[in-house]
Amino acid sequence: MSGSIRNVIIIGSGPAGYTAGLYTSRAMLEPLMFAGYMSGGQLMLTSDVENFPGYPQGIGGPEMMMHLREQAERFGLEVQDRNVERVDLSNRPFKVYSEGEEYLTHSIIVSTGAESIWLGAEGEEAQKGRGISTCATCDGAFFKDEEILVVGGGDSAMEEATFLTRFASKVTLVHRRDVFRASQVMYERAANHEKIEIKTFRQVKQWLSDDSGLTGAILEDPRDGTTEDIAVTGAFIAIGHKPITGFLDGQLDTDDEGYLLHSEHTMTSVPGVFAAGDVVDTRYKQAITAAGLGCQAAIDCERWLEDNVH
Ligand code: NAP
Repeated sequence: MSGSIRNVIIIGSGPAGYTAGLYTSRAMLEPLMFAGYMSGGQLMLTSDVENFPGYPQGIGGPEMMMHLREQAERFGLEVQDRNVERVDLSNRPFKVYSEGEEYLTHSIIVSTGAESIWLGAEGEEAQKGRGISTCATCDGAFFKDEEILVVGGGDSAMEEATFLTRFASKVTLVHRRDVFRASQVMYERAANHEKIEIKTFRQVKQWLSDDSGLTGAILEDPRDGTTEDIAVTGAFIAIGHKPITGFLDGQLDTDDEGYLLHSEHTMTSVPGVFAAGDVVDTRYKQAITAAGLGCQAAIDCERWLEDNVH
C-alpha cells in the first residue's frame, strides 16, 4: 500500500481531469492524479486549438494541456504519469491499483475520456494529426478550400461532413454499406448538400501521402475488392467513440454505449465516485465542456467529502 488515505484520486488527465485537479488542489484536498502513460488525452492529437476561450491566437493542443497541468500543479496537484489498472469500489476507502501498488482514497473523480475509434488502414498511423483527424470541430478549419474525405455512416459522419462544408471545397463521404445508421434527417442534410458526395460500398484500404502530408486514399469495394484512388488532402474518420472505462470492470452504471451515468449532479452510481468529461458526455465532447464538468465534479466531490468524511 502506498501512503495514507487520500482525499481524492483523479483518474485521467484531459481538460476535465486537470480542471478537477485545479479545483481540488485549491480546496486543499491534496489530490493525486493518475495521468496515464499518454497524459493529456485527445488534445494531444490536435495540432491547434482555436475554440478554447482565452487563447486569441489559438494554441497547440499539447501546449494547452501543459498549461492546464502546470496551473493545477502550482496549487499542489500531485501527478503520476501512470495508468490505473483497476479499482475496487466495493468498500470505502476505495482502492486504486497502479503498477501493482494499492492506493486508498475517500473519493475518486473519473475523467478518463473517450477515444475515437480509428480505422487502422495502412499508412494511417503516420498521418494522424497530419491530415487525418477524428475531430472536425477541432481541425476542420485547417482544410479551407481543400477536398476532404469523411469515413462513416452514422450521425457523427453526417454531422462532420456537413460541418466540414463550411471550409472544404468538396467533401466525399464513404460508407462501407448502402444502409446508414444515421438518422434520416441528418442523412438527408448531408446527402442534399451541394458540396457533399456520398459513395457507398467503399472502405479505405490504404492512405496515400508524400512529404507535404496526406494526398489521398485507395478505396476498396468490399463486395468484390475492386479499388479506386481518391485525391484528398484531409480525412476525417467518424466511425464512433468509445469511453475509456475498462479499468472499472462494470462497477459503475453506464448507458448502453458504455458512457458513465451520473446519479446526482456529477456523482456516479457509487457515492463518493464522480465522473467528468468525455467519459460521461455523449453530446458535446468539447475541451471546454469537459473542463466545465471537471470543475463541477471537483465542487461536488469537495461538498461530499465535507458531508461524509471530514
Ligand atoms: P454509429 O452510429 O455507431 O455509426 C458508426 C458508423 O461507422 C456506422 O455507419 C458503421 O458502419 C461505421 N463503421 C464502424 N466501424 C467501421 C469500420 N471499421 N470501417 C468502416 N466503417 C465503420 O456512431 P456515431 O455516428 O458516432 O454515433 C454514435 C451515437 O451518437 C449515435 O447514437 C448517434 O445517433 C449519436 N450522435 C448524434 C448526433 C446528433 O444527433 N447530432 C451526432 C453524432 C452522433 P456500419 O453501419 O456498417 O456498422
